[in-house]
Amino acid sequence: MDQQIREIIFDLKSYLEYLKGMGITALPLSERKPAISPPPQVLTLEEIRKELGDCKRCKLYRTRRTLVFGVGNKKAKLMIIGEGPGYEEDVQGKPFVGKAGQLLTKILQSIHLQREEVYITNIIKCRPPQNRNPEPDEIQSCYPFLIKQIHAIQPQIICALGAFSAQTLLKTDAKITTLRGRFHEFTPLESPIIHGGDDINKTSRRVESTTIPLAESSLRHGKGEDKAPSFLTGFAGIKVFPTYHPAYLLRNPERKREVWEDMKQIAKWIVNSDQPSQPAGEERR
Ligand code: URA
Repeated sequence: MDQQIREIIFDLKSYLEYLKGMGITALPLSERKPAISPPPQVLTLEEIRKELGDCKRCKLYRTRRTLVFGVGNKKAKLMIIGEGPGYEEDVQGKPFVGKAGQLLTKILQSIHLQREEVYITNIIKCRPPQNRNPEPDEIQSCYPFLIKQIHAIQPQIICALGAFSAQTLLKTDAKITTLRGRFHEFTPLESPIIHGGDDINKTSRRVESTTIPLAESSLRHGKGEDKAPSFLTGFAGIKVFPTYHPAYLLRNPERKREVWEDMKQIAKWIVNSDQPSQPAGEERR
């Protein structure tokens, strides 16, 4: 069977298993409204940014200076996703430009990548006051746009920096120590499951684990400004590779070695996937 079809079936199966785990054992079927939406129109990054506009979808607009959308290569093989802008990012309007960002630049250079070659963004686009934890409604507001960014870029790998990013992208509350260092399938939900990072992540950020009901999703197809790609199509084959957040490394430099090992795996995957044969090191399913 074609690899892409296999991946779509795998994604669908994991999504249904996830729903079952949440106690949802039936899906509504109607003649007029198919349960599975038709393939979506792919928006460009410019269109997504325009759709965000002068975003006031959550309370962070009141305290932010700049909405930090993302920077880098629109066709990047590697997408880097952090947590949310800090002070410097809010001032400059670009992600990862403070101390943690400088370390990120060095980490990328260690695998011979320049910042311009990858695409860098965050789970939330506006700085929370005093760098407090992002709150569920803030994550919920940003999530559809993040998914659209991923859909537009079509990276091979998403490197999730820190527990918060990894847990949001992988809809799990597992610790970063267990998530990091390996490839996971990326299967977006219509709406995020929000976890709070863990102690190993960043300095003080923490939110309670919250599940936002699918019915409240702003990612659903149909009328409404936040129209987004179907969660079932357009993401097959995208891997999430979590590693420690550079801010954590600044406080715990002894962990740099592990990040170096992680980056080598990412580099190897990118090189191998450029070859005609299947990339080495993929998790057996
Ligand atoms: N930390 C993040 O998670 N993102 C940034 O953009 C900067 C610091």
